[in-house]
Parts: sequence; C-alpha cells; structure tokens
Amino acid sequence: MQLHELTSTQLMAGIRHQDLCSRDLVTYFLNRIEQLNPSLNAFLSVTGDSAIEQAERIDARRSRGESIGMLQGLPIAVKDNICVRGELTTCGSQMLRNFRPPYDAHVVERIRSEDGIIVGKLNMDEFAMGSTSETSFAGPARNPWNLNCTAGGSSGGSAVAVAAGMVPLALGSDTGGSIRQPAGFCGVVGMKPTYGRVSRYGLVAYASSLDQIGPFARDVNGVALLLNVIGGRDVRDSTSLDMEFPELGGYSGEHADLKGVRVGVVEEHFGAGLDPEVAAAVQGTVRRFESLGAEIVPLHLPHSRYSIAAYYLIACCEASSNLARYDGVHYGHRADSFENLVDLYCQSRGEAFGAEVKRRIMLGTFALSAGYYDAYYLKALKVRRRIREDFDKAFAAVDVIVSPVAPTAAFRLGEMLSDPLAMYLSDIYTISANLAGIPGIAVPSGQTASGLPIASQLLAAPFEEKKLLRLAAAIEMPATFPAV
Ligand code: GLN
Repeated sequence: MQLHELTSTQLMAGIRHQDLCSRDLVTYFLNRIEQLNPSLNAFLSVTGDSAIEQAERIDARRSRGESIGMLQGLPIAVKDNICVRGELTTCGSQMLRNFRPPYDAHVVERIRSEDGIIVGKLNMDEFAMGSTSETSFAGPARNPWNLNCTAGGSSGGSAVAVAAGMVPLALGSDTGGSIRQPAGFCGVVGMKPTYGRVSRYGLVAYASSLDQIGPFARDVNGVALLLNVIGGRDVRDSTSLDMEFPELGGYSGEHADLKGVRVGVVEEHFGAGLDPEVAAAVQGTVRRFESLGAEIVPLHLPHSRYSIAAYYLIACCEASSNLARYDGVHYGHRADSFENLVDLYCQSRGEAFGAEVKRRIMLGTFALSAGYYDAYYLKALKVRRRIREDFDKAFAAVDVIVSPVAPTAAFRLGEMLSDPLAMYLSDIYTISANLAGIPGIAVPSGQTASGLPIASQLLAAPFEEKKLLRLAAAIEMPATFPAV
C-alpha cells in the first residue's frame, strides 16, 4: 500500500513507531499535490517551503524526546475562505485575489498548536456560494472519480484533496451542505458540527447564522480526530459554545452492537426527484443499521419542503450584508478608473464579483428592503423555527436520522451553470441541518453503475457529535480509491 492510501490513524501510527518522519510525509504529499493538481485543480496555493521547515522542527523535537501534539506532524489543507497568516486567502474570488490575512483563523491556530502542518489552500465556489465549485475564479476542482464531473461544492477542493490522496485531512465550511455534499460526491467522510461547536473566527463570512467549519478525512476516525482538535470555545466568536468537548476517537464499526439504537427514516426524504441508485444505496445503509440490531423508525419532517425557500432567503440576506465590506476601500479589488465614490464602489464590485455572488447580493438586498422584510426575511425566520421544532420532535423519538446527501451522484461539469434554480434544489437534503443548527455527517455508501461515489447522511440532535461518529463508524465501508 502507498502512503496516500493510508488513513490518518495509520499514518500517525507509522510516525509513532518511527517508520515514518514528518518531513518524509510532508514531502511525499507535496509531490503528490504537484503531480495531481494540474488535472484536479484542488489547490489554489501550496505552502511548501514553510511546511517542510515546520516538519523538520517537529521531527527535531521528537528526536529530543519532547512530546508532540495530537496531529503528530500530519499535512493538512484548508479551504480558501479560512485565514492563514501571510498566505493568500482568496475565497475563490477575483475580489480577494491578492488578500493575505495578517492573522490565523482559530481553527488554524488549533491545528498548529497540535502539530498539524498546513500545506495549502483549497479551491471553492466563490465566497462558498454554490454546489459545484465551478464559480471559483480559478476554474472548477475536478472529481477524481471522473474528471468530467464536478467535485461538488462549495468545499470541492477539500473533498478532492482528500479523495485523491493529496492530503490525509482537510477543512471545509458548510453553510447549506458544502462539506457533506462534496464529501459524498468524492467518496470521503465529511462532517458539519453543531452550530457553535467550532469557532468561526477567521472564517470569511458567507451567512453567519449558518456557517460552520468542519473536517474531511478518509474515514470516520480521521474526522473525529480533526474535530477534536478544532472544536471548543473561543472568546473571539460570540456564538462559539462554552461547553466541554467530549474526548473523541477510537471509533470502529467492527462488531458494533446497536441494540437499543433508534434510526429514523424520513418519508419526505425518499420522494420524487431522488435518483433510484442513490435511494438503493441509502436503503442499504438503513438495512446495515437494522442488521446491527438498531430499530428503524419511520418519521415525518413536515416543514422540510419549505427548507430551500427559507434557506435561500436567509443565506442571501446575510450574504448581502456580509459582502458589503468588499467595496474597493475597506477590502478587496479596486477599479482603476472611476468618477466618484459611488462609481468606485459600483465599478469595483461590478468587476470583481462573479454572476452567482451578484445574484445573491441582489436577492438579499431586495428581501431585506422596507416593505419586503416582513414578507420574506421574517417569514423565512419563522419557517426556520418550525424546521428546528420538527427536528426536536424527531430526536425525541430517534437517535439518528438517515437520508441521502444529495438527490443524485456528482453532476457533469457545466450541467448546473445555466440553471441556478436546479442547483439550489439539489441542496434539499443538507440545508435543513444548517437551518436547525444540528450536526450531520456524510459517509460513503456505495457507487453508481458508472463508478461514481454515493453517500448517506446521518443527522443527530445538537451536541450529539459523539453519537453521530459512533453510528457513522458502525456503518462505514472501507475507503476506496479513485484511479488517479
Ligand atoms: N449550495 C449551498 C449554497 O449555495 C450551500 C453552500 C455552502 O454550504 N457554503 O448556498
């Protein structure tokens, strides 16, 4: 087996038993990035020299017998909307193509303090708006299982980097499914934690009440490891939670006994529009739960059919406010020629934002304007509340809900570009979790006849990450590898 086929747990065992050193590992993965990135376009920038220096420092400490942090010198890459001090942080946008933040995001600080090594920044839809990674100013990341298919989005680069073995672990952000859907499309594990579990300090905001940073890995244990490192209270994010983070890790599906576990299956999740191959794979997950002793409970989430409308209103409203700072003065691209201040704003924003970002800013501004605020924004907030109440009721009756991640496997590149509404509709299974603030995880569950990965989504009540990980590990299939 080659190094990139190993899970993070196996790599760390290699380091601990001194078969591997961090420098060799980082060099190996940097070579792999160099070799594969021209075809996959997962990385927007690579921080090679500083990564090797850090690895050497960790190896030196290890050889002096000093203790090493939880991440043991593993290479890790982060989505390009997460600030890394002094490194380009473009958010996939012309607007920020030269932006180098003067500080590290909280999650980056946490990774460094546990001896993880940041090796680069990952491709994404512009400002995390999209489900295909095609709105990136650098062009789309490509799905390693089929280069003509999208990687999913918006954290497409993160999913590709892990799926193709360019890094063992990565971070993405999930506002409406942007971790779970690309993880599902690329055949890796991806998790959105409970809202507030992970500090958003240093995450460039898209829709602040929905955004959450989370991990990608080849297996559930890798996701648990990275979540353990990044989770917890940070005073710089007032929505981050002041609660103890339970020790995580050591999850194994072997001989799991799920007697007494109640697994919810929501009727609304298996209706029209769901691809039969995806439905069959997710039903397979339900049967695996059953064969391990779990009880299957049919459920309803009656307000879930309003989730897309509510999400796209709330997300666009928040985005229109968050993106106001990119005016060519406070932040971002400034037009070369303009006549006055208003013209400077218009030219700079007009030149540097892509079509999807402009569409959402306009939608959000409209929905927040006097006269429409009550009819649209306030209404959407009320629907959001109902969706949360549906979940509260459901989780009084079950431990976990199993659903598809997306209605289909990966789409072909270009398929959704001319039809934004069709793209929005494809978020149907993921966005409710963000509206309700609950944790969710995508776990590989099979393949289509044409060889594309299919995933199942597991959802749990707020703060039940540990339960979610344990149940995900119970039904996890061994990681497979695309022929790249
Ligand atoms: N596809 C959704 C959107 O476009 C979700 C994006 C995300 O989670 N960042 O808003």
